[in-house]
Order: sequence, then C-alpha cells, then structure tokens
Amino acid sequence: MLNTIDIDGRIKLIDLNDLNQPKRTGSYVLLEDSITLIETSASPSIPYLKEGLAKLNIGLDQIKYIILTHIHLDHGGGAGLFLKDCPNAQIVVHPKAARHLIDPTRLELGARAVYNEQFDQLFHPIIPIPKSRIITKENEETLQIGSKTSLIFYDTPGHANHHFGIYDPVSNGMFTGDTAGIYYWTLKEHGFDLFLPTTSPNQFNPLAMIESIKFFEQKNLSVLYFGHFGFTKKVALALDTVKNWIHKFVECSKKGYLSSELDERRIENTYLALRAAIFDFLYSEQVPKDHPVFATLELDLKICSMGLIDYLDKKE
Ligand SMILES: [Zn+2]
Repeated sequence: MLNTIDIDGRIKLIDLNDLNQPKRTGSYVLLEDSITLIETSASPSIPYLKEGLAKLNIGLDQIKYIILTHIHLDHGGGAGLFLKDCPNAQIVVHPKAARHLIDPTRLELGARAVYNEQFDQLFHPIIPIPKSRIITKENEETLQIGSKTSLIFYDTPGHANHHFGIYDPVSNGMFTGDTAGIYYWTLKEHGFDLFLPTTSPNQFNPLAMIESIKFFEQKNLSVLYFGHFGFTKKVALALDTVKNWIHKFVECSKKGYLSSELDERRIENTYLALRAAIFDFLYSEQVPKDHPVFATLELDLKICSMGLIDYLDKKE
C-alpha cells in the first residue's frame, strides 16, 4: 500500500518503503513553480516514488530539482536511476558529495562493507550521475524554486561530512536528513514520539552533530522534516531528546570499546547496551513488546553501533 501524506497542501511526503518497511524513508515533494523533491531513497524504492508522483498528477518531466540531504544510499542511492526518467531535473547536493555521485565506486564499496550480502537486495543498482546534471550548494547558498520562495542550504555535519540541512522559509521548516536523528513514525501512531540519533559509519562525529542540532535550535524553527520519517512541530522536544540520546549513545560505545580489543565484540557490546537502554525505555512507556518498531530498532542500533565504534577507533 502506498502512503502519501499531505503535510500542508504545498508539501507532500511519499512513502518510499525503504527496506520494504512502510513509514521508514520518504521523499518530500514541494509544489512550487519549480517542482522540487527532497530525497529519492535507494533504487528499489524508485517504483514507489514514481507511483506517488503519478497519484499527485506530477509528470516526471515537470520535476526541476532533486535535492539529496546527503548521499547515503537510503537517501540518494536511487537518484541516478530516477534521474534517467526526469529529463528536466538537476540533482542538488553538498559540494563534498558531488564526485561520489559522478563516480559511485567508493560509495558502493563503503555500503557493501556495512551491509555485506544484503547490499544487492537493498541498493542495487547505483547509477552514476553526469556532472552536467549536478548542482552543488555551499553553506548559506540559496535555490529559487518559486517566484517568492528560495530554499537555503546549511552545512550540517555530524551524521556525515557531506550533509546539508535545507531551510524552507514558507513553513519556517528544516529538512534535516539524518542530522537531527530519526523519527520513529510507527510509534507516533501509537501515541508516542520517539526521536533517536543515527550514528551510522563512517563519518559520525558526536560533537559536530550536537553543534548542528544547536544550530537548528537557534533558528527557532516551526517544523522539522526528517529523512526517516515524517515531520514534527514539536521542534524543541525533538532536538533536545536527540541531543540527550547522543550522550547516551557515546557513553554506551565507550564502555563497549573498553570491553574488548576486537572491534566485532566492541560493536556487539555497544549494540547490546543501546538495545537494553532503549527497549527498557519503551517498555516503561507501555509500548507493546510485539510492536514492529523493535525490529526496526534492532537493525538501526546495529548500524549505529558500527558508526560509534568507528568514531572511537579513529579518535584513539
Ligand atoms: Zn545517512
């Protein structure tokens, strides 16, 4: 089943069923003079994106800009494949990301190291993007998408060095990608908001992430649009919660790091500590033990633990 959420008439969110999970990763569609998408997810999600756009009566030739908050494959891995069918679109990315879209060899190798044999099922194919179709935006540069609307791009490292946040002046909102964490939308439907950081390899930096989140706080935003999944107007709560969990994540990983000489064991012990902390918290909030969020969290926390130990490895 395809979900498309009408956020405010002007911004729609198409569920891209990343990892075959609903409400996991989405593409935002900004209905401006220049139709603009934010995120495509991975190649296996592109049929959902096309179906969602068709339901919104948007022709692929009408799409002008496809913005990627960063190029981790669950955000931009399908951009090359999708672009082949969007003759008038340009890809907009952080300056540090462009060369990896033009030649995705390193991107693919990095993801294969994390996802191993699951890679093909999750991400194949990664199609290179011609340089002529890519626009880069430095910190505070803008992109005019409507007669009165210009988006503003902000360098927001922490989750990745090549990550930007995109400010929308009309809604006073920020598209945060992964910098401000993940919103576990399936729990929202259960009446509970869970926001957690995402610390996946291999550029996670907790200090930079906290600085980027503080920057979001200073902007007095009205809404946050997450890469995973959905939006919230509880901006202060979301940002504060994620900041607190970053400290907790790092604390767990430091113990995990000291528990063994082997990275594999360090990662496993970090994962177990994080899992215990978060699951206990959710049980205390009366989330039923058979809720699908627990399976999602197990996967996320494994990847987060890899990124945390990778960070400590580089620091030591
Ligand atoms: Zn990411």
